[in-house]
Amino acid sequence: MSDPTDRPEQDSQPETGALPVPFPTDWTRCLILVAHPDDPEYGMSAAVARWTAEGRSVVYVLASSGEAGIEGMDPEIAGPIREEEQRRSAAHVGVDTVEFLGFPDSRIVNNGELRDAIADSIRKHRPDIVVSLYSGPEFGPGMPNQSDHMEFGDAVGAAFDDLVAAVGVDSREGRPQMWFESDPRPSHYVDVTGFVDPAIAALAEHKEYMSVLDPQTPVREQAQTQVERMVAPVEGLADGNPVVGFTRKRP
Ligand SMILES: [Zn+2]
Repeated sequence: MSDPTDRPEQDSQPETGALPVPFPTDWTRCLILVAHPDDPEYGMSAAVARWTAEGRSVVYVLASSGEAGIEGMDPEIAGPIREEEQRRSAAHVGVDTVEFLGFPDSRIVNNGELRDAIADSIRKHRPDIVVSLYSGPEFGPGMPNQSDHMEFGDAVGAAFDDLVAAVGVDSREGRPQMWFESDPRPSHYVDVTGFVDPAIAALAEHKEYMSVLDPQTPVREQAQTQVERMVAPVEGLADGNPVVGFTRKRP
């Protein structure tokens, strides 16, 4: 959960907490850290499309190549296919730099090696903000998170804390902020009006992966359904425009 003092008073919603507030705009460099190819594509990429259109720089760093994610396909064949799909996908939302750290898909563990690799990425790209995915146990009732996402998200938090405590980042005038997307209770939102189409195009680039996942439904149709669900308007927020939610994990 984010610091509740970040939130405005919203007496009308005492049970569920305050409505999210707009995501900050006083930054230029973003590093997105995720476990697998396609992880940025379920909503977050709509925000990415807006950010890059505004002239901000966004870099993707992925722990794995998603090589275990295509059922029935040899990981050595699947890995390069999924990397290529991720690069094409990133291009739709203005991201040119996509890096893969080579950790094993479906066996990601929050260990020293992973935290070191994450810390190296943060040092290398020197972001103003670091964005990863929700690492809690479930997105909602009956919607459990995956082990890889939980281990990776925890590793991002730990690596971030170690870095901030170390000289390299701590000596900077402004240390990066850390955010998680897809938290079921977001503290902030990005209005993605006008950026839903590139996000759908981005998800639809994961053709091989999605066509195996659901052979009956055309990939483009799957992508549209998924993205529109993830950016669905929230009552009372952003004039009913499509939004992507984020939660501030570190100041
Ligand atoms: Zn994933």
